[in-house]
This record gives sequence, C-alpha cells and structure tokens, in this order.
Amino acid sequence: MEKLAIFGGKPVRETPIYYGRQCIEQDDIEMVTRTLQSDLITGPGPKGEEAERKLCEITGARYAVLVANGTAALHLAAMAAGFGEGDEVIVSSITFAASSNCVLYCGARPVFADINPETYNIDPESVKRLITPKTRGIVAVDFTGQAVEHEALWQICRENGLVLIEDAAHAIGTKYNGRPVGSLADMTCFSFHPVKTVTCGEGGAVTTNDEKLYRRLLRLRTHGITRDRSEMAHPTDAGWYNEQVELGYNYRLTDFQAALLVSQMSKLNRFSQRRKEIVKRYDRAFSEMPELFLQKEIPESDTTRHLYVIRLNPERLTCDRKQFFDALRAENICPQVHYLPVYWHSYYEKLGYEKGLCPNAEAYYEWSMSIPLYYSLTDAEVEDTIRAVRKVTEYYKK
Ligand SMILES: *Cc1c(COP(=O)(O)O)cnc(C)c1O
Repeated sequence: MEKLAIFGGKPVRETPIYYGRQCIEQDDIEMVTRTLQSDLITGPGPKGEEAERKLCEITGARYAVLVANGTAALHLAAMAAGFGEGDEVIVSSITFAASSNCVLYCGARPVFADINPETYNIDPESVKRLITPKTRGIVAVDFTGQAVEHEALWQICRENGLVLIEDAAHAIGTKYNGRPVGSLADMTCFSFHPVKTVTCGEGGAVTTNDEKLYRRLLRLRTHGITRDRSEMAHPTDAGWYNEQVELGYNYRLTDFQAALLVSQMSKLNRFSQRRKEIVKRYDRAFSEMPELFLQKEIPESDTTRHLYVIRLNPERLTCDRKQFFDALRAENICPQVHYLPVYWHSYYEKLGYEKGLCPNAEAYYEWSMSIPLYYSLTDAEVEDTIRAVRKVTEYYKK
C-alpha cells in the first residue's frame, strides 16, 4: 500500500489547495478601477444601486439592501424583525457563529435547533419542539448551499406568528421548487466574503418582499437617520435637514466594492455550473465508498453548492477525524471543518449553553470536513483531491 505523506510518503500534490478561494478576473479589476475614478466612491452610489437591482433579478425579491458584510446583513435583519430583550429565536446549530450572534446583538436569546442527520440542515421537527410563548423567529441556514425545508418552516412560522430569516450566505444561485433563494423568507441574508460563490472582498445584503422591512433596513444601514419626512418627528421642508429617529449603524458598502459585486454576479451562472460539475464528479467518486457518508439532497433544492462535506463512517475506519484531516493535509489537500456546533464555543458556554443539546449536530461535527470546492478548481485538482481522499481512506479502512 502507498505510504501516506504524513508518514514520509510522497504527497499526492506538490502544492497545497484549500477548501475555497475567490476567482477575480481582468474585467472584475477594470470595473473596480473605473469606479475608483468616479465622483462617488462610497455608497449608496450608482454601482450599489446596480448591484441591488441585479440581486433582485437573481433572487426574484422586490427589494435588496447592500451592506458592509454578511454579519451586518444578519444584524440588521434581526433588528428589523424586532427581536429584543426577553425574546427567543431558534437558530441552526451547525453554522457560522454570526447566524446566532445577530440574535445576541439584539439582546434576545438564541435557542439551538438540531440538524437533520442526512441533509445537515435545520430539522423542522426539532424547531417545533423548541417553540415557547417567547419564540419570535427562526434563523435558518442553507448549509453548504442546500435550501432549507421551506414548506415545513413556513407552516411553523404561520402557526406561531414567527419571522423567518434565511441565512443564505452559502446559497446564492440555489432554487427551492424552482424559486430562487432570496424571495422565500421574510428576509434573506447574503455574504460576499471571498470564499463564497460571488465576492466583493467584504460585503453582504438583505433581500425582502416587504416594503416596511425594506425601509427600516435602509435607515438602519445609515445610523437610523432618515430624509423621508413621513418618518420624522419634526418634519420640515429645509433642504439640509435629516433626522436620526432610531439607533442605527454605518453598514454601507463602498461603491467600488459594489462594482466588483456587479461584475461577479454577472458570472453567477458560470460559477454555479462549474460548482455543480465538481460536485457531480465527487459524488460519482465517493458514492461507492462505504467509509464515507455524503450529504443528502432534498428533491426540492436545486443547489449551487458552496461547500462539499465528507462525513467519515466510524464503523468502517480505524482513524478519527483529526487523523484523517491531518493525513489529507499532508497530501496537500487542505480541508476545513464546517462547523463547530455554535453553542460549543467557549463564549456560548459562558452564557450557560451545555454540550448535549443537539445530538445530531454533535455527531455530525465529530466526523465531518469540507474538501476543496470552488469555481477555478481545475479538473486535475479535482482528480488530485479524489486520489488523496481514496488514498487516506484505503490506508485507514477496517
Ligand atoms: C460567511 C457567513 C456569514 C458571515 O458573512 P460575513 O460576510 O463573513 O460577515 C454568516 N453566516 C454564514 C453561514 C456564513 O457562511
């Protein structure tokens, strides 16, 4: 048997590849430099407006509000939802901490729902069990890009008067029953961080079909200051007058970042197709390996995948997740783990959350990792990744 690189063998690749990376092309760069030479370099400017229109086109949402990053999008959505002191909001347990931090920013308490053990998305049955008279909303994450179970979640929200915020940081380009993510929840939050499917460095957005929420989001993005007389306590026709009517933030995106986003969004179909091709190639290679579990797709989701997760089958392997992870890394295929159950972070531990809350999430975490998936991954790199996964699996298999 071939010796693993971690034990002094020859690695599958000479140079490392990582789980994600951006693709910036010449025309992206030109769009940014042109905007830098224009009169307005911060938002809201012409490129920001164009990006918002484009995002509405992609998602089918009536309104889009561009913000500084995905975390800011979640923060404003949670504020616009009206979450506050004494409220509970149900959040996916396998996600980036920002999905739940936005609830804490508002003074409300995140309550963690377990995941479905096969799709890894929030389990509507677990959500149902957590509802109390204090529950005000749900933050549901389209994990790896797969759409959450909208129908079930909508029914729960209707029956209990809850606000549904969708954290679609992974899911631009995904459709649920033919309808694009971004127009399905009360508010949908996007991130344009460099590992996500389209990027503008740092950036984010909230989409909604509700005009009231839209107006509130716009105001919160700029300090809570309004120029709309109908929103003022002391309206006047003085041309200079604007009024702060609530406590907001400066969460604007610069217009040259918005320019990059416009350019990137015009490539979404191409980016999405390539990601789908790579997912198919991995699925074919790994589906016959009983040592690995693959993420199950619900038929309603036409997924633009952001992450490709492999989950080890402990019954078939002699190694633990760390050994597998380190062995892959030594082959120069650098995986990452997405994610630690949020309430395992020591900050949450200090808030009183305990291990054992979400058994499916915890079991998922112990055995999973994400392998490289991004637009510019070459066929040869995809093959290297498959070879490395096979090599490590072969070595540790029972
Ligand atoms: C990336 C990400 C965020 C945060 O987005 P930023 O733009 O980095 O602030 C939130 N939720 C999830 C699930 C993410 O993957």
